[in-house]
Amino acid sequence: MTPTAQRAAPGGVDLHCHSTASDGSLTPAEVVAMAAASGVRVLALTDHDTLDGVAPAQAAGRLLDVHVIPAIELSVRWGQRPLHLVGLDVDPQAPALLAGVATLQAQRLERAAAIAAKLQRLGLADALPRAVALAGGGQITRTHFARLLVADGLSRDLPRAFKHILAAGRPGYAAADWVPMDQAIDWIRQAGGQAVLAHPLQYRLGSTLRERLLEAFVAAGGNALEVCCGNSDAADVAKLAAAAKRHGLMGSIGSDFHSPQQRWLRLGGVAPLPHGVTAVWERFRC
Ligand code: AMP
Ligand code: MN
Ligand code: MN
Ligand code: MN
Repeated sequence: MTPTAQRAAPGGVDLHCHSTASDGSLTPAEVVAMAAASGVRVLALTDHDTLDGVAPAQAAGRLLDVHVIPAIELSVRWGQRPLHLVGLDVDPQAPALLAGVATLQAQRLERAAAIAAKLQRLGLADALPRAVALAGGGQITRTHFARLLVADGLSRDLPRAFKHILAAGRPGYAAADWVPMDQAIDWIRQAGGQAVLAHPLQYRLGSTLRERLLEAFVAAGGNALEVCCGNSDAADVAKLAAAAKRHGLMGSIGSDFHSPQQRWLRLGGVAPLPHGVTAVWERFRC
């Protein structure tokens, strides 16, 4: 058994969360401290399109006895559909991954300017400079624009900011090109990591199309499905466990924690992986 697996008591693993390096509200060290206080012993910090939080999270993890796995959440597309891949146990120095991440960061910045121009027309003053300042050097995400819309009273709360303004088809939406899923899976594998399809039930796909996606994911070298997510119920977990087995994929678990203000969601607050699904952390190199 690997050292990672030995630490993987139920509730002790969380392989999807965010910090101020992208759209989380806690610094990487604060995320690790909160994870430790919640009983998490194996944590992957998976910020959107950046590895910048990994080193500070690992430094905090060494002090707090939390094993921090180098990881990332990549913005990709399958056809024209935006999807998220989590890359776990990646080498944060791998040239192919670093070059890919630089491409995604440039796309993020370009899209932020496009979103800001639309929000400006909807009445949000100084949208781009304020989003840049709010991101504080981290990746600019739609969550930052949602926070500005709420701060200025243009939306009541974050879910409404997305629903009415920032979601696809709404007036503040700007599409990004991202990169094809297959290419991002390749970057993760070249970095020695495990490619995980994040929150597979969050995409608007019927069951037939979801099967096609899983076939394409397997064909491209994908390794695991996020079987247990922060917001999944028992039926979701059962459905995804069956899908993982059907497609020969391993399983991952992750809360997708962003902020302590999401009171319904805590670090490590994820169902354990069902029996019969191979845990992706069995493959971690240390
Ligand atoms: P982006 O990658 O910049 O397009 O932003 C996507 C992020 O926005 C996701 O990772 C979530 O954290 C957040 N998000 C997306 N939809 C919603 C929603 N309906 N309510 C709250 N947050 C959302
Ligand atoms: Mn996010
Ligand atoms: Mn995501
Ligand atoms: Mn996420």
